[in-house]
Amino acid sequence: VLPLPIMEQDSCSTIMTPFGKFKMLGFINEAKDLTVISLIKGSLNSNDYPLVRVHSKCATSEVFGSFLCDCAEQILLAMDRIQAEDNGLIIYLPRQEARGNGLKAKLRIYQAMEIEHLTSSQACEKLGYPIDIRSYIEAAAVLNNLGIRKMRLLTNSPTKVEAFLQLGFDIHRETLFIKPNQYNLRYLLDKEENHGHDLGLRKNLGGANG
Ligand SMILES: [Zn+2]
Repeated sequence: VLPLPIMEQDSCSTIMTPFGKFKMLGFINEAKDLTVISLIKGSLNSNDYPLVRVHSKCATSEVFGSFLCDCAEQILLAMDRIQAEDNGLIIYLPRQEARGNGLKAKLRIYQAMEIEHLTSSQACEKLGYPIDIRSYIEAAAVLNNLGIRKMRLLTNSPTKVEAFLQLGFDIHRETLFIKPNQYNLRYLLDKEENHGHDLGLRKNLGGANG
């Protein structure tokens, strides 16, 4: 297991949301000038495999409501699931826009998608950006600080599951099914085909029941 970066708890407050109250912790890494948010409900007893969502920031969907991807829907669904159990945790990673390539890259990728009618994977390739360079070591360090070694990870991404297994966590995966719309269908199909996401789209579009 890799040595993890230092993530120190720096603050603790409470926020009221459409999904009830959450405890909000700020974890910082001074050297990287990085702050990671951890939203918590309940006792998080690791033996009970708490629900955990590790979420990478996506300004376009989360701030502006863009339909081009499903990030905003995924975090809201995760909050809803955590509220239903009154227990669970969200870790919000603010520097992982566009699968870790950053905001500048994301806007360029969107431009290429629009002008050249590319999928996001094709646009990444064309512009020379790696498909996915997200890192979860800061999230792992926060989980360690909170005493969580076992969890039900809310994700459709097998890469993320693999990353946390590699980091030594005991993982059960829970999928977040997002209903496609006319704008994100292509993006979601691309995720399914090129990122191995299990979204049930091909199955459903193919006319099979389920
Ligand atoms: Zn997004």
